[in-house]
Amino acid sequence: VNEASLNNIKNNHAIVIGGSMAGLAAAKVLSKHFRRVTVIERDQMPEGANPHKGVPQGRHPHALLKRGELILDEIFPGLIADLISKGAFHVNSGKEFELYMDGVKTPTYESKISMLALSRPLIENTIRQHLLREPNIRFIQEVEVTGVEADPTRTYATGIRVRGRNGVQIDTTDESLFQADLIVDASGKESHMPQWLESLGYSAPTESKVACNMGYSSRIYKRPEGLTWTGFYAQPKAPHRKRGAIMLPMEGNDRLQVTLMGMAGDYAPTDEEGFKEFARSLPEKEVYELISTAEPLTSIVGYRKSHNQLRNYHEMPRYLEGLIALGDAVCAFNPVFGQGMSAAAIGADTLDKALSSYQPGESEASSFAEYFQKQLIQGISVPWQLATGEDLMWYPEQMPEMDHETRLIGQYMMQVQKAATTNPYVMEVFYQVLHLLEAPNVFFRPDIVLQVVNEMVAA
Ligand SMILES: Cc1cc2nc3c(=O)[nH]c(=O)nc-3n(C[C@H](O)[C@H](O)[C@H](O)COP(=O)(O)OP(=O)(O)OC[C@H]3O[C@@H](n4cnc5c(N)ncnc54)[C@H](O)[C@@H]3O)c2cc1C
Repeated sequence: VNEASLNNIKNNHAIVIGGSMAGLAAAKVLSKHFRRVTVIERDQMPEGANPHKGVPQGRHPHALLKRGELILDEIFPGLIADLISKGAFHVNSGKEFELYMDGVKTPTYESKISMLALSRPLIENTIRQHLLREPNIRFIQEVEVTGVEADPTRTYATGIRVRGRNGVQIDTTDESLFQADLIVDASGKESHMPQWLESLGYSAPTESKVACNMGYSSRIYKRPEGLTWTGFYAQPKAPHRKRGAIMLPMEGNDRLQVTLMGMAGDYAPTDEEGFKEFARSLPEKEVYELISTAEPLTSIVGYRKSHNQLRNYHEMPRYLEGLIALGDAVCAFNPVFGQGMSAAAIGADTLDKALSSYQPGESEASSFAEYFQKQLIQGISVPWQLATGEDLMWYPEQMPEMDHETRLIGQYMMQVQKAATTNPYVMEVFYQVLHLLEAPNVFFRPDIVLQVVNEMVAA
């Protein structure tokens, strides 16, 4: 335990609400700073790599971006090797991944970026196994957090209120489990932390929302022999190309997770005929060909979501010390950008660094809670900008007023996208940005500008 790390928070016990991606990664970093860590999860965890009820998106394909992979492997040393031993494998983004951007196939080349192919349940289950090896972490299942408690002056969070689920009996007054020095909300996008804060006399955070009305319809197929690609993505493009599809291999490379996606309310149906018709309507014929010949292994499952959502915990008028939030509980994105698990990893990494660096006297923040949320927004603002920058265009009424400079940048970015479809050098930088390895301002580097201009002249 790093005794010096917290100063005004005791380092005895930390509680994490929610035992999914953000909660697991946060618990692991907390175990370095606190004597004990308790994760409270309302679901019963499934045997093996299977989805659970509280994470319905586990039935849909999940791409793990390179940045997320690197951070998770640092938090859980040996994680990627373990996943590979369970059948996960790397897919070269330039050579083995067929990508259509706005209907145009991108170049085939050897990229430096490869993406780990695996299912969401495999990664979550494997991380949980790694976590359970930590002697000072306890994982409690089928217990739901129903509120937060504070000291009599309502300055500090002191613990949580809970109830057992599915008949689970639990001593809800057990101080060793439910009283803590730091409480981390990682309960996902339906988090009740805003209401818990209000019930203690604090304001709820303001919310930023960007509508996209996206729908996923997904099904797993047996991977047919003889495919020329390992992964496939036909990207929707705001505001005109509402439909797209992604086909991602699972661990073992014997199955494909196929998702038909529709934006701006153009949802892909979940019935057999509707699913096929939607696939047939895509200009990229690979999708219809696959689903009309490959053997389906599951039924079709749907997921619909209306907006990207950011709870602005970084600009609260007053903070309840000892209570923080990360993961989807703070920021949930349109999943077509595949950023959520990586943003959860960024959140845990930020927490680790904040616990080490926070010095009450030296920081402008009035509390660790404020300090952390302000650090976190710096880490997740790029994924938020990437997702919402595109999604703002689905509905003209949500487009902000643009000055001349912003319009020029937008036009240049359209040329960058075009150049990426013909020029591997630009495409590689595009991948670096999509994988959160570089910030978007890299597109303004002189060598990239030169390549983009060359492509414009050649066109
Ligand atoms: C269709 C779809 C596809 C996606 N595809 C990708 C992708 O390709 N790549 C990617 O990186 N991300 C993707 N995402 C996003 C990713 O799933 C989330 O960002 C990620 O799961 C967030 O993790 P989290 O731990 O913050 O929240 P969640 O995964 O939502 O987990 C919250 C956990 O908290 C528990 N919980 C909730 N309330 C309580 C309570 N009161 N008490 C106790 N426990 C509680 C829940 O049971 C759950 O286990 C996708 C999302 C969707 C919807």
